[in-house]
Amino acid sequence: MSSKHQFVKLNDGHFIPALGFGTYKPQEVPISKSLEAANLAIGVGLRHIDTAYIYHVEEEIGQAIQSKIKAGVVKREDLFITTKLWCTCFRPELVRPSLEKSLKRLQLDYVDLYLIHYPVPLKPGDNDFPVDEQGKLLLDTVDFCATWEALEKCKDAGLVKSIGVSNFNHKQIERILNKPGLKYKPVCNQVECHLYLNQSKLLDYCKSKDIVLVAYGALGTQRYKEWVDQNSPVLLHDPVLCDVAKKNKQSPALVALRYQIQRGVVPLAQSFKENEMKENLQLSPEDMKTLDGLNRNVRYLPTKW
Ligand code: NDP
Repeated sequence: MSSKHQFVKLNDGHFIPALGFGTYKPQEVPISKSLEAANLAIGVGLRHIDTAYIYHVEEEIGQAIQSKIKAGVVKREDLFITTKLWCTCFRPELVRPSLEKSLKRLQLDYVDLYLIHYPVPLKPGDNDFPVDEQGKLLLDTVDFCATWEALEKCKDAGLVKSIGVSNFNHKQIERILNKPGLKYKPVCNQVECHLYLNQSKLLDYCKSKDIVLVAYGALGTQRYKEWVDQNSPVLLHDPVLCDVAKKNKQSPALVALRYQIQRGVVPLAQSFKENEMKENLQLSPEDMKTLDGLNRNVRYLPTKW
């Protein structure tokens, strides 16, 4: 499977590559690894890159993109870049400035997809996770429907091609869809989705509304200590998944990704290792070029009539 030639159509007419590259970096991993990984990812042919303000890697992703564009490896229009609005910037007047800061860090004029990261507004300010003296998160009162209207304006201004949501349940999506004066529907909902949490009900709902479900954690996450219970089962070691993989002479990771693609989900896959990136993509740009070279005007069904 090559992300270069497989796309899913979004409800606003744009296309999203069927496999995305994840850029979340656990705290203990040095930031230089993010730059290295983004360079490797573009180098092996991955074209859909998923990032977010809160990952604090946008600058590194931007550097990798620019260096690959300068080197003639890719053109801007070949890439599909997603970033996300953080919860402390949900007040409508904060949305565009926040996006503009992301664009500056990414060294881009526009992103392909901009998402509301979580349906939970937090108190604006410099602290990404503002808390009171008891350590309780400080919420803001802004309605995410007002945030959505600000995203619509960013799309109209040409700063983003498509807009969507992340970590929304069906009721929260419904609130946006039923919002009076809605101009653009969310094109996608990016949620945790994998073999142990296949989100079949949410997927059916999203499909019924022509909203693409984008899966994060599709490989069982990086098991980052700051968020993931270290006693939870390791997805890629699951015996049933391993049996299916063996039967198909594929790796468990590929089967876990293929499972999503085959049910109409766009999975993200993160890795810092080139061999894994190549495996997830399956065909390298060189393989694609080689196969493109087979074209020789042989038409098996000439329909002479
Ligand atoms: P994934 O579920 O993509 O899993 C990543 C792990 O899978 C890495 O540890 C990697 O191992 C391993 N892996 C990758 N390819 C292979 C392979 N071919 N064979 C074996 N192992 C493989 O992790 P993430 O949690 O990072 O999720 C993906 C992305 O989703 C994030 O990076 C981020 O962009 C997004 N995300 C979005 C969220 C949201 O709220 N919207 C929340 C969380 C994530 P190794 O360490 O060996 O490289």
